[in-house]
Amino acid sequence: MDIPTLLIVLATVLSLTSIALAMTWRLNHEEPGLPQWTMGHVTISIGILLMSAQSQWHPLLSIVLANMLIASGYGLSVAGTRAFFGRDPSTMWRLVPVIALMGGGLTYFSLVAPSLPARIVLGSTVYAGLCLLAVAEFHRHGGMATMTSRYMMLVFSVFAAAMVMRIAVNVLFPSGNDLFTGGPMEQMMFYNGIVQAILIALGYIILTTERLQQELRAQAALDPLTGIFNRRAFFEAAAGRVAEAVRARQPVSVLAVDLDHFKRINDGYGHSVGDRVLRHFVRTARRELREQDTMARFGGEEFVALLPRVGVSEAESVAERLARRFAKTPLLVDARPVEATVSVGVAELDAGGERLEGLLKRADDALYRAKCRGRNQVQRAAAPTATVGGREAVA
Ligand code: GH3
Ligand code: MG
Ligand code: MG
Repeated sequence: MDIPTLLIVLATVLSLTSIALAMTWRLNHEEPGLPQWTMGHVTISIGILLMSAQSQWHPLLSIVLANMLIASGYGLSVAGTRAFFGRDPSTMWRLVPVIALMGGGLTYFSLVAPSLPARIVLGSTVYAGLCLLAVAEFHRHGGMATMTSRYMMLVFSVFAAAMVMRIAVNVLFPSGNDLFTGGPMEQMMFYNGIVQAILIALGYIILTTERLQQELRAQAALDPLTGIFNRRAFFEAAAGRVAEAVRARQPVSVLAVDLDHFKRINDGYGHSVGDRVLRHFVRTARRELREQDTMARFGGEEFVALLPRVGVSEAESVAERLARRFAKTPLLVDARPVEATVSVGVAELDAGGERLEGLLKRADDALYRAKCRGRNQVQRAAAPTATVGGREAVA
């Protein structure tokens, strides 16, 4: 294919990838990165369109402005990647002097001392640098850890390498002065550009999809009010912890916690204060629990905590401390305390092959006993041998 045709194909591909990115942006408009990525592709496609008019339009438009737009598009792309990974995209404004300098150089080599090889060397140096900036940005974040980051680094590195090759070829065998009659190297460059435009846009879309998946997975595992695990995630996490403890012949205990007379708090202060009390409870519990303990909200005002390598006596003291702390440090609403207490049932996994469900059931029965005995207290579960037909033989 000759270069004018390749340029038209490249401009078309860039317009299509811009549309694909714009649609992804529309579907994920809260996701950072997509605005800059989309604008980057749009900017590059306008630059390429201008470049394709090189035989008809003034060099200031079809060479200088065209290349400045393409370089700005790359800058926007890198800014998008920074934003996507939670870094400040505005540092990319630092590229403005570089792009302006390139514009000055291109003007000089178009109008004062026209030389296509000089323009190619200048432009390719800037593009190679911009590609390496993109590689650095992915290296800093995903790095080699994720497949998509490795893929993006590879795509940008290949393009940077192609630019370096183009510089070498133009230094060793300077081309004529007309871009449109450029040799195989120039043809390969634009062909490369077409492939790169598609691969990069695909990469950005895959990154967004991956991020979305991560967010959905987190949402499915976490309770939105308190930010701790929900029941489902608890069972997933706890199964592994219990298996570990059994293998290592280590104890493992659970606390079943229920806020006392929570309905009264809701009725007296309103549902939103009730919500705040629940969050306050989680904050308080976090201070008594360790990093390796798994806490979850099982429903309404019921919580469960799994304490690996903790026997029932120690678990009981943790529960006592937690209940005391929660009762003593109530949530303050308008500087007035909202009195709240908890009842807790404590149980240790029985070494005789007890399952997590059985352990939770015993903790729950103990919690029920704490409620019956007046609330704001901790009760230790009966040993599983005392359980007959699923009901406690000794209450
Ligand atoms: P007990 O001491 O026996 O546990 O009494 P209780 O009032 O705490 O228990 P009950 O199960 O009768 O009521 C629980 C209340 O918790 C009822 C429900 O409206 C409230 N609740 C459940 N989920 C939420 C929530 O997400 N936010 C708020 N504010 N209230 C909730
Ligand atoms: Mg309750
Ligand atoms: Mg309850």
